[in-house]
Amino acid sequence: MEKLQSYVAGRWLAGEGEGRLVRHAVTGAPLYEVTSQGLDMAAMVAWAKQGGQALAAMSFHQRAHMLKALASHLAERKEEFYALSAATGATRKDGWIDIEGGFATLFTYSSLVRRELSDERILLEDDWIPLSRRGGFGARHMLTPKPGVAVHINAFNFPVWGMLEKLAPTLLAGMPAIVKPATDGAQLTQAVVKCALASGLLPEGALQILCGGVNDLFDQLGPQDVVTFTGSAHTGQQLRATPRFNRCSIPFTMEADSVNSAILVEGADAATQALFVREVVREMTTKAGQKCTAIRRAFVPRALLPQVQDALLAKLGKVVLGDPAREGVTMGPLASQRQLADVRDKVEQLASQARILCGGHQQPFAVDAEAPEAGAFYPPTLLRCDQPKESPLVHQTEAFGPVCTLLPYDDEAELLELVALGEGSLVASLVFNAGQDISALVAQLGAWHGRLHLLDPVSAEESTGHGSPLPHLVHGGPGRAGGGEEMGGLRAVKHYMQRTAVQSSPGAMTQLSHSWTTGAPVVEDRVHPFRKYFEELAVGERLLTARRTVTEADIVNFGCLSGDHFYAHMDKIAAAESLFGERVAHGYFVVSAAAGLFVDAAPGPVIANYGMEGLRFIEPVKIGDTIQVELTCKQKTRKPRRTPDDLPQGVVVWDIKVKNQRDQLVASYDILTLVQAKE
Ligand code: NAP
Repeated sequence: MEKLQSYVAGRWLAGEGEGRLVRHAVTGAPLYEVTSQGLDMAAMVAWAKQGGQALAAMSFHQRAHMLKALASHLAERKEEFYALSAATGATRKDGWIDIEGGFATLFTYSSLVRRELSDERILLEDDWIPLSRRGGFGARHMLTPKPGVAVHINAFNFPVWGMLEKLAPTLLAGMPAIVKPATDGAQLTQAVVKCALASGLLPEGALQILCGGVNDLFDQLGPQDVVTFTGSAHTGQQLRATPRFNRCSIPFTMEADSVNSAILVEGADAATQALFVREVVREMTTKAGQKCTAIRRAFVPRALLPQVQDALLAKLGKVVLGDPAREGVTMGPLASQRQLADVRDKVEQLASQARILCGGHQQPFAVDAEAPEAGAFYPPTLLRCDQPKESPLVHQTEAFGPVCTLLPYDDEAELLELVALGEGSLVASLVFNAGQDISALVAQLGAWHGRLHLLDPVSAEESTGHGSPLPHLVHGGPGRAGGGEEMGGLRAVKHYMQRTAVQSSPGAMTQLSHSWTTGAPVVEDRVHPFRKYFEELAVGERLLTARRTVTEADIVNFGCLSGDHFYAHMDKIAAAESLFGERVAHGYFVVSAAAGLFVDAAPGPVIANYGMEGLRFIEPVKIGDTIQVELTCKQKTRKPRRTPDDLPQGVVVWDIKVKNQRDQLVASYDILTLVQAKE
């Protein structure tokens, strides 16, 4: 029997001795063995740390481009992965969520970082925090990649997505990873890792895979390492208590099973009820219910229970369980006989406090497969518990299969109490009529969930569904769900970095951030900055403009030109009674006049002005006031050329300060320009 190899310190190696046998989920045929016995964990950690140096030396944008290229490389070979995914019992649709959903996560993370982060190696948070009276001392928070390794322990149900959703933020942060897939499904994860390594896109050491147990891996970890875990709460709690994690303060992020809810809100009409039924059935049957986000508890107002129950049973009756390779099959088997045994056990526990309405394993059920007894098949199973307050097991038991319990509630107060008995979940869906105000309910449910999916007939048209964690959004949940945030846009990237408060002078901060900080030294030149190419501009280069006295004619003309006849500008009496005490110039006039002062009108390297950020009007500008502008080159970011024909260029952020004759700041903002580069 083939032993699945691990990638250990640059070599593909199989463990020693007998491994755990993994079988085909549909046919039961033996596929491969998994063991990590004898593999050198210390060598893996050392190899990763070496690779980490190369990653840390790359900028955020370089890492993001690497990730995008990797996603494209993997996506081109997706059919190889679908073939292996079928052996885990996945339908094509299930495989799509795992495989292409995983690649989409890489693409999304790549563009998120290129859009939201500067092309730097370190990340600076917060604006400059002044800490002194004269402005010579202040602070910002800095994030730097941890010079360690991230160990990712994954669950069996998403062999591809489960790995990639953690790998994306890790690599973007500049940290290498050791991936330990669950034994079931490890062949698929290994195939993706093999393909990623063969692409040559990743620095050596950035990615290793450990198939099998972790041996003494945790003993090799230290204060700069990170462990993230996805799996059952039982395993997670056990691992979280590892003494070395405690001793070295090793961050341990846990995403565990949770008993998620769908709630049909009181007053739901027939269309809303149909939405609820559709969502519950979809979550029960997708991946045969083997999703951490799947709906386990379906809460329904007591008066609506009979009709909702009938609709659920009718829809579940149409599910065709069997071999996904066969035409017409809509739900495949569980991933393994082990999972099957676990689901049977959990359904028995649930059935001690709830009644089985359909499914279960006591009665024979239809399976469209050549040898139904050989596969890990389990039918869609709906239970009903009429006394949910007195039935703790329905709130605490996650049967990791196509299993859900229907629960009645009498009023909102009882509903909140019942939901909380789940002790913290990844997600809940609230299904309600269009236009209904459920804000009070949402606010109270928030603390128990990592994500809330508000489903009404409007959002239903485009909703990504209850069960889809998205890269931009928090994936994680409080309490039983593990207390972590696995994704959530940049939050996840920051998880693999150290945050440090840096206190300094504005000049030192400018050097560190490559971004001009108010109060830092400036340089002036006889050449206007708008006449300079991208390479010729220096951060901190400043233009002090001529002055302009604002007249009543300016205000009247601007009012007529723009159509803005607001009383504070145009009505002498109302303006006198206003907070300004007299007529003031339009803020937008000040901004326009400032542009008139700082631009260089003739054609030159500045291609376009494409935005303004952080505009604040601080002091009013009155008739007779004289304004002057300080324009300072704040930050420069080179834009990559997509084709050799593209004009070489970069984005320049300019700090704009408009002051009056008393040296008071009247307006401040940043403008963004595209500036041509020489090459
Ligand atoms: P599991 O049995 O807890 O295993 C999870 C991972 O931990 C596997 O890689 C497993 O490896 C490993 N593991 C088990 N014991 C270990 C130990 N002593 N030391 C180090 N690693 C150990 O969970 P599972 O059966 O794979 O997954 C199903 C559960 O995961 C469900 O309860 C589901 O709700 C949860 N889940 C949660 C999320 C989420 O994001 N919250 C996502 C998916 C799944 P082996 O397979 O080699 O034993």
